[in-house]
Amino acid sequence: MTTLAIHQPSPQTLAKLATRGPRYTSYPPAPHFKKEFGADKATAHLDKIAQNPSQSGAGISLYAHIPFCSKLCWYCGCNVKITRDRARGERYVETLLEEIRLYGNHLPGVGLSELSLGGGSPNFLHADTIRRFVDGLRAVFPTQENARLAIELDPRDTNVGLVDELATMGFTRVNVGVQDFEQTVQDTINRHQSQEDTEALISRARAVGFQSAGVDLIYGLPGQTEDSFTRTLEAVLSMAPDRIALFGYAHLPHILKHQRLVERQPIPGLAGRAELLMCAIQQLTQAGYVRVGFDHFARPHDPMAQAVKHHTLQRNFQGFTTSQGGPLIACGVTGISDTGDAYWQNTSDLELWQSEIESGRLPIARGLTLSTDDHIRRHLIYRLMCDSFVDFSEMESRFNIRFSEFFRYELDALTDPALGQLVELDLEAGTLKPSALGFELIRNLCMVFDPHLRGIEPVGSTTI
Ligand code: SF4
Repeated sequence: MTTLAIHQPSPQTLAKLATRGPRYTSYPPAPHFKKEFGADKATAHLDKIAQNPSQSGAGISLYAHIPFCSKLCWYCGCNVKITRDRARGERYVETLLEEIRLYGNHLPGVGLSELSLGGGSPNFLHADTIRRFVDGLRAVFPTQENARLAIELDPRDTNVGLVDELATMGFTRVNVGVQDFEQTVQDTINRHQSQEDTEALISRARAVGFQSAGVDLIYGLPGQTEDSFTRTLEAVLSMAPDRIALFGYAHLPHILKHQRLVERQPIPGLAGRAELLMCAIQQLTQAGYVRVGFDHFARPHDPMAQAVKHHTLQRNFQGFTTSQGGPLIACGVTGISDTGDAYWQNTSDLELWQSEIESGRLPIARGLTLSTDDHIRRHLIYRLMCDSFVDFSEMESRFNIRFSEFFRYELDALTDPALGQLVELDLEAGTLKPSALGFELIRNLCMVFDPHLRGIEPVGSTTI
């Protein structure tokens, strides 16, 4: 059993209070997007951005989703197409560039401040296809000075030569999926990935000039124990990644039938998850990593850790980010765009996505224009998640509200002892902070401020 620092909540308490709920990578969360929101509404928002020099001058962040993988990991929760036909990637990228040109028609002269290539597996694409994509993208949205180009890579399927090529295209950030290095866990989840390949990829990225290497881990996987996960963490720490994302496994076999395949090994229950989580937090913070929100860790020099220090951390569909709030345009199937005033999501149907773009239409399935109420609640939820601090007077002057009146229902709810232990509420000073327990259960706390959840059975992934 792990010995916890005094201020850390006990795994038993976390397990008792854990529930299901949104991850709040947007507010309102995606299930509340409406299918009536289509391409016409999205283009109206884009035209507004084009006419606003402070928004258009900041440049856009672009996320491009590559949905292909050559082999299915049985824990996978992504919208993924399993194929070994690499030619599908070539065709996909041609359509992706068409989609980018459609966006470019509405955002003329706008630069690119950030590119993230995610999936699926972006390394499913050949190096020359990625190069064609980056060149085509730059022809529409020229990269701004200091633009950050990031890519997710799967070490099982990445030749280190690709890393060299990516460096010449301007990529400086890489994120590597690891999840777990333990043999029994890898057998159970159908993902065999050696420590050596992972290390080789990260070292090569550093050698060719990448400034940041991140690693994704998952706790709560079948077969994981505190001891086994400790060994995985030790292996990861030996590679000294700049960032580590630590996600809880979401076992949803009623939606994702392939996840039944992992049930051959016991899946940790809430108590087991809580033990794994607290053990990992202990190990990573003792190794010098800074907590970045509830599920990220960064070395102190990393811009994410600096953003925590300077209260500039933000949240979007990719989780926590240092991006400073310019419009995020997401291309590819299932991509979710966020312009600040609106969200929209592309269709998940690959054929429909392609045919819509070929007909000259943005392939949008659903979306939402934020109401004033949504803006106020999103600000509060993001400040709680990113800064662990809400200043009533800052919100009052930003939104012209009386905080105690606007959030009367929520402040009353927080007098309930179970919820009250999640916060340090100072009504006189007008401040609200998560307690140490509330920091770990920040999603529970944010749910108090989400009126969509009142009176309904919570759904979604587990909040620890
Ligand atoms: S690599 Fe990622 S997206 Fe692809 S199957 Fe595995 S978990 Fe899913």
